Amino acid sequence: MKTPNFSIEFFPPKTAEGTEKLRATRAKLAELKPKYFSVTFGAGGTTQQGTLDTVTEIRKEGHDAAPHLSCIGGTRESIRGILDEFKAHDIHRLVALRGDMPSGYGMGGEFRYANELVEFIRAETGDWFHIEVAAYPEMHPQARSPQDDLNSFVRKMQAGANAAITQYFYNADAYFRFVEEANKAGVTAPIVAGIMPITNSTQLQRFSEMCGAEIPRWIRLKLSSYGDDSASIKAFGLDVVTAMCERLLAGGAPGLHFYSLNQAAATTAIWQRLV
Ligand SMILES: Cc1cc2nc3c(=O)[nH]c(=O)nc-3n(C[C@H](O)[C@H](O)[C@H](O)COP(=O)(O)OP(=O)(O)OC[C@H]3O[C@@H](n4cnc5c(N)ncnc54)[C@H](O)[C@@H]3O)c2cc1C
Repeated sequence: MKTPNFSIEFFPPKTAEGTEKLRATRAKLAELKPKYFSVTFGAGGTTQQGTLDTVTEIRKEGHDAAPHLSCIGGTRESIRGILDEFKAHDIHRLVALRGDMPSGYGMGGEFRYANELVEFIRAETGDWFHIEVAAYPEMHPQARSPQDDLNSFVRKMQAGANAAITQYFYNADAYFRFVEEANKAGVTAPIVAGIMPITNSTQLQRFSEMCGAEIPRWIRLKLSSYGDDSASIKAFGLDVVTAMCERLLAGGAPGLHFYSLNQAAATTAIWQRLV
């Protein structure tokens, strides 16, 4: 099989210990030769320095890295400042998002949706950045309808995004259908599948409730039947997610983006089975 494009996402560590752990994780994952690493950005700029520091460190190690940038709560001036900083560090790719404000915070800011951020980045910086945006094969939880969400996605691409990365899912048909509909609506840019390895059933359930990703009933029941048997959960998760990745690649997915949660083992195991 031709090696597909793949990328790996981290979050910026908050402690010295987390930073050390991420360095070790990264060293292992770098052996897989991903196209780039990406680093998330806390909405409202809460991790701004951590995101930039992590990206800078990865780039110094000789790998490409993309900061995420979320606009919620931001002003034109604050976002312009961040873009200038990325440019000063010679960063040429980023993942542009609206973000979610932590509960208790108002929306505030001068950007309502990610398409406005993409437009702003293009207006301010021309073609300097390769911009990726988020896509939701199972619909973003706040969207009024799947069609509205698709329209919003298309608007975001038309604003100047180069590619998209999906929210994770465990239903390949939802992905294929979304890509087909996006293509019909004129989107020809790559829509890379976001992959969440399954390693911990409680954590997965919590994330999925927040972001609107469905865990199919049969997977949920299997996971709960394993109770605290972490080895069985991981072995089952590896089989299920690898089989889905094989299907996605065979069906034409242009790449895979792994939500690593700063852990190396699960992404490595899936990848080794794929190549
Ligand atoms: C690959 C990926 C990476 C992510 N990384 C981060 C990160 O680093 N930091 C972070 O905080 N979050 C991150 N997220 C989560 C993301 O910020 C949330 O899902 C957020 O709720 C939506 O962001 P968005 O960029 O998709 O928003 P948008 O594209 O703006 O969409 C948000 C909602 O508004 C609707 N909408 C869009 N435009 C309009 C319009 N003009 N009128 C009416 N409705 C509209 C959409 O249908 C959708 O329901 C990531 C998600 C993905 C898939």
